[in-house]
Amino acid sequence: MNGRYRPMSSNTDNETVIVGAGPAGLTAALVLARYRHRVVVVDSPHAPRNSASGGVHGHIGLDGAAPAEMRSRGWKELSRYATVELLEADVESVRTAGSGRFGVGLDNGDIIEASTVLLATGVIDIHPTQVDGFSACWGHTVIHCPFCLGEENADRRWAIVVDNAELAALSAVALRAWSTDTVAICPESMPGIDGARTAAHSRGGDVIAGTIRRLHHRQGSLYAVEFDDGRTLERETLVWTPPQRQQPVVARTIDELNLTVDDGGFVSVDDTRCTNVPGLYAAGDLASRWKQSITASAAAGATAADAIHVSAIQRAVRT
Ligand SMILES: Cc1cc2nc3c(=O)[nH]c(=O)nc-3n(C[C@H](O)[C@H](O)[C@H](O)COP(=O)(O)OP(=O)(O)OC[C@H]3O[C@@H](n4cnc5c(N)ncnc54)[C@H](O)[C@@H]3O)c2cc1C
Repeated sequence: MNGRYRPMSSNTDNETVIVGAGPAGLTAALVLARYRHRVVVVDSPHAPRNSASGGVHGHIGLDGAAPAEMRSRGWKELSRYATVELLEADVESVRTAGSGRFGVGLDNGDIIEASTVLLATGVIDIHPTQVDGFSACWGHTVIHCPFCLGEENADRRWAIVVDNAELAALSAVALRAWSTDTVAICPESMPGIDGARTAAHSRGGDVIAGTIRRLHHRQGSLYAVEFDDGRTLERETLVWTPPQRQQPVVARTIDELNLTVDDGGFVSVDDTRCTNVPGLYAAGDLASRWKQSITASAAAGATAADAIHVSAIQRAVRT
């Protein structure tokens, strides 16, 4: 494919490519726009991770807004800033381009060169594709986080899928704010399962061992869980947090630029959201397993943008 080579501007200090236009990338773009930086935001045309959700919750001013509405409002607000360009494309590579600069390769072959890059691609949830009905219920009655969708599922019969005895023992208490009828579903081979069951009973819960084969539902509304051995359990809401992996472009960048990651494969960043490669920042879900939310991602994007601005000033002072 023959792509174009695109230096962003003649002012090489104030230019950033942001990869991904979720809450982290869009917030960073807005903050950088207010600092009057040149910014190119590149967002994939594919549906983002939270697209299954009927409404995102817990972000003031936008509680319950559809994911697509949040994004379209963000794009509209950014389009008012002359220094911001929004592109719909998949970023395929982020490489160093000499003199501390980066080349960001798009799927149409274009390469955008910039002094700073912010990775804000989010992550990919790895759905258990062997479980029939999972995708239909995902984001509605199969929820990855009670904060996000617990209120919408409150006062129903819940189960949580866990493989850790301590969590199984605690689950009835931990989820009581949303349901007084919660059981934990665990693998038969989980160490400590008997102790977890005894503790759960004393707290008004239960621990059920088994491998889930099918989720019975009506248009995404769960009513029963079926196990490998044919047993069924009437449940209306399942808390199931699947494992995650990085977007392919981030996985490639980790390899090619030797980015440091934590034990779970999340990109390691300092307090300013800078990676171990100067000029390359990472904000949002891709850099945090435990603080994944709209608000946390937006805050991380804003922090990165502030740091990018300060860094540009420092470069200008040095030259
Ligand atoms: C079903 C569901 C419901 C949720 N509900 C809530 C909720 O109610 N409240 C809450 O606070 N949080 C909720 N979350 C979590 C929340 O959506 C995330 O924590 C948040 O969106 C992460 O923001 P982000 O900017 O890091 O990444 P994302 O929002 O995932 O955005 C990343 C963007 O990068 C793009 N991208 C990826 N790869 C590339 C590439 N190669 N090139 C260009 N662009 C790329 C993606 O398409 C996407 O637009 C929910 C998550 C799920 C799965």
